[in-house]
Amino acid sequence: MYKLETIISLAKRRGFIFQSSEIYGGLNGCWDFGPLGVEMLRNLKEEWWRAMTYRDDIEGVDASILMHPRTWEASGHVSQFSDPMIDNKTSKARYRADNLIEEHIERLRKKNKTIQADELENKLNDVVELTDYFNLIIEYEIPDPVSGTKDWTEVRNFNLMFKTFVGPVEDNGSVVYLRPESAQGIFVNFNNVLTTSRQKIPFGIAQIGKAFRNEINTKNFLFRTREFEQMEMQYFVKPGNEKDWYEYWKEQRWNWYLGLGMNPEKMKFKVHEKLAHYANMAVDIEYLFPFGWGEIEGIHSRTDFDLRNHQEFSGKKMEYVDTVNNERYIPYVIETSGGVTRSLMAFLCDAYNEEDAPTESGAMEKRTVLKLHKRIAPLTVAVFPLVNKDGMPELAENIYKELHKKFKAQYDTSGAVGRRYRRQDEIGTPFCVTVDGQSLEDNTVTIRERDTMLQDRVNISQLESYINERIGQ
Ligand code: ATP
Repeated sequence: MYKLETIISLAKRRGFIFQSSEIYGGLNGCWDFGPLGVEMLRNLKEEWWRAMTYRDDIEGVDASILMHPRTWEASGHVSQFSDPMIDNKTSKARYRADNLIEEHIERLRKKNKTIQADELENKLNDVVELTDYFNLIIEYEIPDPVSGTKDWTEVRNFNLMFKTFVGPVEDNGSVVYLRPESAQGIFVNFNNVLTTSRQKIPFGIAQIGKAFRNEINTKNFLFRTREFEQMEMQYFVKPGNEKDWYEYWKEQRWNWYLGLGMNPEKMKFKVHEKLAHYANMAVDIEYLFPFGWGEIEGIHSRTDFDLRNHQEFSGKKMEYVDTVNNERYIPYVIETSGGVTRSLMAFLCDAYNEEDAPTESGAMEKRTVLKLHKRIAPLTVAVFPLVNKDGMPELAENIYKELHKKFKAQYDTSGAVGRRYRRQDEIGTPFCVTVDGQSLEDNTVTIRERDTMLQDRVNISQLESYINERIGQ
């Protein structure tokens, strides 16, 4: 298992991900995608969009980030979307009380104090009130990880929604929120999509978009940020059929990660013991990050909670009319809710490898390679002249220009060819095309595959189809 710092440092050095507004010292919990990161991000979204909407029963939307504030009253976010917050008086550090306890449980486990850990975990699962968190922290004498002291404030609720104002007057009547999830943009459009698309139940609505949460502690790189991107789908079903569809979507979503090359040994399902206010079944797909297991996507059976509340708050009917069976009902919903940015990080961690590889001279050296699935890798192909003379650069540049019309490609002439391969390995480019002396005679080039490092000799006219076949387009 590689350290998270190693992956963060590669991501920065090679232009995947930068700290937001770095020249001003950065803004906590916000990250920017650089030239390579943005390609990978777009590829990931494209994969999701194709898997989820290129089918008969799912439509896409792109709703605005700012929504009518009543939306968030109806969804329960105004009253319920908060985390328990606690401060340490000495260090002034601020924590999520539940995370503080969870981390203490981890520490107990590491010290083999299993009975105590299990006992605390059970008590944490039974927490009802804010004071229950506080009492556990005191009872188990949980210290501040920074100062080591135990002088805690009481536990307070902290709403995670970012507030802002529409128009020039900053008063209560003009408050709006930056959406904390994209799902509500789907629910409020339920009728619009139903009538315009003429879908029949069961059907789904999918959306990719930004979400914002004023997280108490941002940490672990892209894992917990204040601005992030989600890929969410709400699948509307007849009440009573939700169990089958829940199982169906669990499998579909698991397979999506597998299909993009994620290592199944680092994935697991985690069933929610404690259900959110809207759910009757819920499971997370977790990934084993360098810092431990973490959710990458949730599959939730949300009953008719959202549509029923929107019906009540808006006064607009949110029913489905089944003309064949002469029934009307508010549909139940199975939601698949994944983080684009969080899963991008999971894919990066999963792809990172350091291994021994032979150099041109046959000696072994360490190579860093991102074994990203060919369709999510930022670049698809790099083109090199073997040496910068004898007409090789001209031919290589022409090949590059042609390939660039179809694939994200890069042209590189600097340094020994071995070094150029290593540079591409490090950013996960699946193919490297090299123009050599023979190319000028018979119009063939070598094409090297990243993971096996094996080279094929291919006619230049065949390059496009060679690559297409292997990336499965
Ligand atoms: P957590 O318990 O980790 O705060 P959650 O259960 O609140 O997450 P959901 O509301 O189910 O998360 O959000 C769905 C998905 O959105 C998550 O699986 C994750 O991939 C992503 N996500 C949620 N919060 C963040 C965040 N702060 N930063 C990055 N991605 C996030």
